[in-house]
Amino acid sequence: MKTQLFNATAQKENGVRLAGSVIRAGGLVAFPTETVYGLGANGLSGEAVAKIFQAKGRPSDNPLILHIAKKSDAKDLWTKVPPMAQALMDTFWPGPLTLIFNHSAQVPPEVTAGLPTVALRMPDHKTALALIRAAGVPIAAPSANLSGRPSPTTAQHVLQDLEGRIDIVLDGGPCRVGLESTVLSLCGAPTILRPGGVTREMLEAVIGPVELSPAVLAPLQEGAAAPSPGMKYKHYAPKAQVLIADGTPREAAEQICRAYDMATLAGSRCMILATRETQGFYRNRAYAIIGDRRDPSTLCANLFAALRQYGEDADLLYCEALPEQEMGLAYMNRLLRAAGFQHLEYP
Ligand code: AMP
Ligand code: MG
Repeated sequence: MKTQLFNATAQKENGVRLAGSVIRAGGLVAFPTETVYGLGANGLSGEAVAKIFQAKGRPSDNPLILHIAKKSDAKDLWTKVPPMAQALMDTFWPGPLTLIFNHSAQVPPEVTAGLPTVALRMPDHKTALALIRAAGVPIAAPSANLSGRPSPTTAQHVLQDLEGRIDIVLDGGPCRVGLESTVLSLCGAPTILRPGGVTREMLEAVIGPVELSPAVLAPLQEGAAAPSPGMKYKHYAPKAQVLIADGTPREAAEQICRAYDMATLAGSRCMILATRETQGFYRNRAYAIIGDRRDPSTLCANLFAALRQYGEDADLLYCEALPEQEMGLAYMNRLLRAAGFQHLEYP
């Protein structure tokens, strides 16, 4: 299969219209959203959705998110609009918040991996919304990467993983948030299954206390049921071993320098993901500044691109932990998975 690339800004009309008809006809289209690039198929067709799993090499028990272009479409896909959902949709949609509730008969089991619930989101991106409208159906879409690789935040990342495996890539430039959406279950007490661009603090300001699934910051216990099936898989992993340094910025940076120097002496190729505030500690070592600790959203926006860029040629990739609050929570959720939960342990 030849993958066609369209610049979604310059050739918007043609590219998006064609992509919409490809989705309707059962094909696969990668498209930009404000979070990461999605790999879309007709969300009402089990056969079309099955192709997503094939193209990504995604385990079939990991459900997908249905993307809609207007809030009122939720009522056809859920059994009812759950209490709390309306306030959340009014505040955060379009935006990086995915809501989970019991699904209607319209939703094929391929989307939900057989679960009684379905995940819905209205993305905050002109091209994504135009594509859903052009397709005329909800679009089922996970991130447009090969399963296990960092999620794509540019069209080039999508091509690295999926060229020749999908019909179309719409190029809308780099994604603003850079991490996948917040996933919030509304079955029972509201619970964050995956943190993202809408933070726990933002949700609590609208609906009161929100629980955090234990799997957000810790590996799932052997044999435990995954509240969100995506949590049980190794994620975002580059070839390099990612290692996380904890503590204050100074403590983290000093730990990284000691570990880096020892590993380099032992012959390992090392790389550091630095921040604007800590770059001064890393002089004479290989580092890249990926953002500003005072504004964790800058680190979130660049994390996946940095894992792709620096995680292939290095043996060891050193990263600083952030406080697990606001966008720092989403950052640590992804970083911990990229690291297989490995921290630096230094005296
Ligand atoms: P992706 O956008 O590729 O990261 O995949 C969607 C994420 O949402 C995965 O982590 C899924 O496990 C999660 N998800 C989708 N639908 C459900 C659902 N019905 N219940 C729990 N988690 C879900
Ligand atoms: Mg994904």
